Amino acid sequence: MTTVHEPTATVASAELSVWPASTTEHRHGDLTVGGVSLAEIADRFGTPVYVLDETEVRDRCRTYRDAFPDAEVLYAAKAFLCRAMAHWVEEEGLGLDVCSAGELELAVTTGFPPERITLHGNAKSPRDLDTALRLGVGRIVIDSPSEIARLAAAVGPDGHQKVMVRVVPGISAGGHEKIRTGTDDQKFGLSIADGYAQHAIARILDQPQLQLTGLHCHLGSQITSVKPYLAAVRRTVGLMARLHEQHGLVLPELDLGGGHGIAYRPGEEALDLTSLARRVRTELSDACAANGLPVPRLIIEPGRAIVGPAGVAVYHVLAVKRTGSHTYVAVDGGMSDNPRPALYGVRYAPRLVGRHSTAALARVTVVGRHCEAGDVVAADVELPDDIRPGDLLAVPVAGAYHLSMASGYNLVGRPPVAAVHDGLARLLVRRESLEDIRSRDVGL
Ligand SMILES: *Cc1c(COP(=O)(O)O)cnc(C)c1O
Repeated sequence: MTTVHEPTATVASAELSVWPASTTEHRHGDLTVGGVSLAEIADRFGTPVYVLDETEVRDRCRTYRDAFPDAEVLYAAKAFLCRAMAHWVEEEGLGLDVCSAGELELAVTTGFPPERITLHGNAKSPRDLDTALRLGVGRIVIDSPSEIARLAAAVGPDGHQKVMVRVVPGISAGGHEKIRTGTDDQKFGLSIADGYAQHAIARILDQPQLQLTGLHCHLGSQITSVKPYLAAVRRTVGLMARLHEQHGLVLPELDLGGGHGIAYRPGEEALDLTSLARRVRTELSDACAANGLPVPRLIIEPGRAIVGPAGVAVYHVLAVKRTGSHTYVAVDGGMSDNPRPALYGVRYAPRLVGRHSTAALARVTVVGRHCEAGDVVAADVELPDDIRPGDLLAVPVAGAYHLSMASGYNLVGRPPVAAVHDGLARLLVRRESLEDIRSRDVGL
């Protein structure tokens, strides 16, 4: 007889390749992550719930430190931020990349050293800049010409601030048009090709309180090939050589941004970090040698690749509907906790958890509970044919750009985040309650 609680050995299944390394499959159909059963988490915290494997996050930070021992690694907070996340990243020796006063204040009030933080943004508000200066961030990345005088004035004639300039190298890379930021003629950065970058740099050099430490270049997101990064190295070093010629300028830092691609479904390609590290290092030293420049210190800014695979979203099935041609499995979350399928057409591979099914697999589309036909969680996936209301569905690779992009649509309320570690689960961020929603609403 098989009892429900009988654990079995890990099934080294290829299907679990995109799950946290700690994931273990049990004969009765449940999965444990970080030693904690997903069904138990659903019971204890309710659904939808986001589960974050602390060890997976820390291991990914360490993988970066090992692959890029000489570089500065900044975690891009916009992928996912909460106080525990800032704390783990800080303990693992990474810096932080933020793009608002909110992200910045959350990190600093948690104890993150401000000098290890870089502020970004194509449209920084006065509050963003004031907060950055008040808290003493390490670097501010200038993204538009008008920002230079504004920032210089805010710093004041006796102040001092390290800055970088975000340049656009004219390279198309990234998983979707909406997340390609290295091409000319989009809202980010200053183009090298049309001379805007050079012009802005000349103006920064006229501001003695701004210390330009280097060029910054973020190509986009979900990039799975090393080549665009090598092209970015050549273009930015080319600009550094011209700046050296024109201004005698030697820039000590080069920031190549993030965008490192990960697999969302088994068999998908991910960016090879070891190869990225090796080939960028070689390309950078070759390009600098060819131009008679010293090699700048490399900075990289991974977000998705650190936290994406460490997160799992768990939902309850609320309804199953069969139309002439499709089966729709509706869950208790959707585009308000994960807008990525609607925004970019991203595909996921959810699994039934909490019970074992021997039913044949059927093609279904997992949809959310929101009032839009485009509210899809996972289009066209295989799940057991006997899937029914009350079942639990778990979506892996849910750590990045889910909750950080969550909305208040339909006043459903944003899900909680529970951390798992060594067989224990603890709440990091609580569920957004009706009381939270009501308390912000102050008129009548
Ligand atoms: C979004 C962003 C990153 C991180 O991108 P990922 O795809 O999550 O690695 C890094 N740097 C900048 C400037 C960004 O805007």
